[in-house]
Amino acid sequence: MGKKRVLITGGAGFLGSHLCDRFIKEGYYVIAMDNLITGDLRNIEHLFKLEYFEFYHHDITKFVHVPGKLDYILHFASPASPIDYLKIPIQTLKVGSLGTHNLLGLARDKKARIIIASTSEVYGDPTVHPQTEEYYGNVNTVGPRGVYDEAKRFQEAITMAYHTFHQLETRIVRIFNTYGPRMRLNDGRVLPAFIGQALRGEDLTVFGNGSQTRSFCYVDDLVEGIYRLLLSDYAQPMNIGNPNEITISEFAEEIVKLTGTKQKVVYHDLPKDDPKQRQPDITKAREILGWEPKVSREEGLKITYEYFKSLPQEILYQRDHKSFDHYNR
Ligand code: UDP
Repeated sequence: MGKKRVLITGGAGFLGSHLCDRFIKEGYYVIAMDNLITGDLRNIEHLFKLEYFEFYHHDITKFVHVPGKLDYILHFASPASPIDYLKIPIQTLKVGSLGTHNLLGLARDKKARIIIASTSEVYGDPTVHPQTEEYYGNVNTVGPRGVYDEAKRFQEAITMAYHTFHQLETRIVRIFNTYGPRMRLNDGRVLPAFIGQALRGEDLTVFGNGSQTRSFCYVDDLVEGIYRLLLSDYAQPMNIGNPNEITISEFAEEIVKLTGTKQKVVYHDLPKDDPKQRQPDITKAREILGWEPKVSREEGLKITYEYFKSLPQEILYQRDHKSFDHYNR
């Protein structure tokens, strides 16, 4: 018996690359696929020398072909920060819909189990707190986040349809805010934004009055949850995230303390449809997977800060490195 083979889409991205590492560590043959719009080969450079690792430069909104058998597919390709999906709205919609359809077809063909990366954004600006998997959400379909939220909601629907109609083995993970090494410094997310500002000696920009909340999960905890969900027999959507909730202004203060920056916290306008509160209810993950996060925010932030500090200076000042126009068709 050869090694089990796994395909990871978005394999050069933040989460995808950590998943590649984990599956290599578990003894799998890993095929990473990415079109490198938001992914970065530096995240997986260390894997290229391995015998059991391959990289395909491919856009999954086009027909996907992978030779040989596949045991598992992890579908983690998508822009995932509000700034990114504002820049590439059409591609965001296509990767969640057409891309997911292609991968479900591939999973059927290979008789592979597939796990789909969904998101807390399916809950929109939630009116139920904390968010349980039973909550249907409060999404503005035509707002700035609609392209991402609706693509992910469609993705869940088509995945369930393949599960019930074709008896495909499917898993759906609803991922809450996650952080750690390999986040893109310029992706606009709050953590790289604050740390980047501190490192450049700029003021930290809190949007709105900073009373909105998020619950941040360290990437290793998230990967452990995803790994367990994939190997479980639970086909309904499951929240994976850290329930430890904090306001964004408190978070800014934590970053000030962590980095020792002398800069101020300044307040800017709140972007449209920015969720006011977010905290996962992880009862299901606890009961079904025996999973809960282990890494404290203090510990995780320290590791992440060290990572950002170690990056070359030019990355720190790189705002936007390419034109995205090509992808908005
Ligand atoms: N945010 C902020 N300053 C920034 C970037 C983001 O105050 O420079 C806020 C943003 O408005 C949101 C929260 O931080 O309320 C988390 O934003 P992020 O883009 O990381 O993810 P979201 O959870 O909104 O998808």
